[in-house]
Amino acid sequence: MLALRLHDKEDLRLEDVDLPRLEGLGAILRVRATGICATDVKAYTTGARTRLPITLGHEFAGEIVEASDEYREYIGRRVVVNPNIFCGRCEYCLRGEHVLCPNRYAIGIDVDGSFAEYVRIPDQAFRVGGVLEIPGNLSYEEASLIEPLSACFRGQRKLGIGPGDIVAIIGAGPIGLMHLKLAKAFGAAKVIMNEIDDRRLEIAGKLGADYLINPAKEDLEKRVHEITGGRGADAVIVAVGVGAAQRDALRIVARGGRVNFFAGLPAGKEEIPINTNIIHYKQITVLGTSMQTPFEFRRALDLVAAGVVDLKPLITHVFGLNEGLEAFSTALRGEGLKIVIKP
Ligand SMILES: [Zn+2]
Ligand SMILES: [Zn+2]
Repeated sequence: MLALRLHDKEDLRLEDVDLPRLEGLGAILRVRATGICATDVKAYTTGARTRLPITLGHEFAGEIVEASDEYREYIGRRVVVNPNIFCGRCEYCLRGEHVLCPNRYAIGIDVDGSFAEYVRIPDQAFRVGGVLEIPGNLSYEEASLIEPLSACFRGQRKLGIGPGDIVAIIGAGPIGLMHLKLAKAFGAAKVIMNEIDDRRLEIAGKLGADYLINPAKEDLEKRVHEITGGRGADAVIVAVGVGAAQRDALRIVARGGRVNFFAGLPAGKEEIPINTNIIHYKQITVLGTSMQTPFEFRRALDLVAAGVVDLKPLITHVFGLNEGLEAFSTALRGEGLKIVIKP
């Protein structure tokens, strides 16, 4: 079968590989749609993976074509899979905070992923509720975006976004735009989008943002204070991996507000000077989130299936797997929003 494999830093190859084998319990999924994520791009530029070569891709949906006896009833079903495989038995899993599981590994990150015609779904994915049937009204393309959406869902739940909140989001890439849609679904009164790329800012406007700020052209702090009557935003989500954006978040959050450093900073750039007195005197909560628990994955799917969050406008490019390298270079150039491969 065809697979898009990373061999080393900046060495991605479309090649013919053996079909994945069942190897005990679990299933084989025929991949029908798989999204390219910033994490895949980061893997390409750094070559940082626990093993190489590896088939990338962790945002995917497809149909189960083969399964061990235990999961036989899944054969023929359309499913979406949480790529994070949790042990289900450790202290964190028992607490419902699976994302902290020290035994976690991920499809497309630690084992072969979904930029291929077929991918192996381990037994443990089923055991922790990570394999969900796709409701009939959702396409495979939409379902493939449940993974990033559920990570955003977790981020907002932890921030406690609620009715009437003024939410500022820094970064209007696919993740920032998912946060915009979710914040509206969570009842935010106003969503302020901040983005240095005017094209992305314009899309944010079309998708329902109440205020658009280009911090490269405008005084961000001044504008947010105008919009909020001098108070600042109740919650700020940093959806770009840029240290300066994290600093900006502290400046534009209201007293007693909440900040989520949702995007990680690139390796070697993690340490930035911040004014901790802002945290102290404004008495704000700064937190970080990544990934999603099985519960959050399920909820995100339910929200999309119910029509509360429409992901379709985020899909700007669809490629075949044979065009995988072109799809990837489109992502590298930062063109479009969500790029989906249909193997
Ligand atoms: Zn991802
Ligand atoms: Zn665990």
